[in-house]
Amino acid sequence: MKIPFNKPYMTGRELWLISQAHAAGHLSGDGRFTRQCHEWLQAKTGCRKALLTHSCTAALEMAALLLDLQPGDEVIMPSFTFVSTANGFVLRGAVPVFVDVRADTLNIDESLIEAAITPRTKAICMVHYAGVACEMEAIMDIARRHGLAIVEDAAQGIFSTYRGKPLGSFGALGALSFHETKNVISGEGGALLVNDPALSERAEIIREKGTNRSQFFRGQVDKYTWVDIGSSYLPGEIIAAFLAAQLEDADAITARRMALWERYHAWAEPLERQGLLRRPVIPADCEHNAHMYYLLLPSLQARTHFIETLRDSGIGAVFHYIPLHSSPAGIRLGRAHGSMSVTDDISDRLVRMPLWVGLEPHMDEVLESARRALASGGPEGSMA
Ligand SMILES: *Cc1c(COP(=O)(O)O)cnc(C)c1O
Repeated sequence: MKIPFNKPYMTGRELWLISQAHAAGHLSGDGRFTRQCHEWLQAKTGCRKALLTHSCTAALEMAALLLDLQPGDEVIMPSFTFVSTANGFVLRGAVPVFVDVRADTLNIDESLIEAAITPRTKAICMVHYAGVACEMEAIMDIARRHGLAIVEDAAQGIFSTYRGKPLGSFGALGALSFHETKNVISGEGGALLVNDPALSERAEIIREKGTNRSQFFRGQVDKYTWVDIGSSYLPGEIIAAFLAAQLEDADAITARRMALWERYHAWAEPLERQGLLRRPVIPADCEHNAHMYYLLLPSLQARTHFIETLRDSGIGAVFHYIPLHSSPAGIRLGRAHGSMSVTDDISDRLVRMPLWVGLEPHMDEVLESARRALASGGPEGSMA
């Protein structure tokens, strides 16, 4: 691919900070760079405690452990998401209950959540798709009235806000991703954001193999020992040093992604008016982070033609997601509540455009190729 779908951006400071971790000789987790990342994330998101993990997937596994989910407990979530939203809960024997998404933001449809609640429901795990917030006020209200925990899969949502409040800071727990396809990266990486003070101490224990090691190093206990179930969820200092360099540059990264996003959005506006596509919808309450630019095309055939035509021009555009409710594991391990018609429809028609820092000089070519691909789409290439 001449112009790939994603190209990880590196600030240039990563190797310098890694060399400092190397020189300091502290390579396991929770050293200086991990602490620096924790403080930075706590200051930026307002969460009570940020804990670096190997991935967002690992952070969601920790969330399932912290909620003490038992076999047969249910967690309400969208089907239009990545497998990791469901996997951590399924590992505890819990059942994902899928509900449909809104046609505008492609986020979980808050008006369908209440009907999916049963006596076994323990939590709602929402995904802020494309870094655009779910309807948090309505969802928080439902959770409060039914005594349910909220877990935010904010893998795509770093630096986005809902009514000025950062994503990942609403639920009892939030999970971020620093995978190389996200805005701020460490190759593989993630963070658990703990907002419920009652979960904060146990989160440290679960992350440190079920030991009270963190309390020991703070001098709160005089020996450290096995106190709970857990696993090893913390990354080493090399990864944390890489991430620290990215976080230092996070505002500039977001600004450059935003400029690319705005360029796509302005370009697509007349095409939307001509009925050739639909653009992303950003509600007034939501400030997004330019994680993704997607287009909704009129049909599956139109999308296939579009992706193939771009590929022939050396440009990587991809679809998103195969819905979980109709995947082999989703059918076996989860359950759909009600119609999934919006999910099925958009997953056939959505295409993600390349969006990465450094794409700027290629944008004319991307947009011209996309325009030509749309124009050659034939009669199915128009919205009904
Ligand atoms: C990327 C992503 C994940 C997984 O993140 P990892 O850090 O790769 O584990 C989970 N959920 C959503 C919605 C994602 O986009």
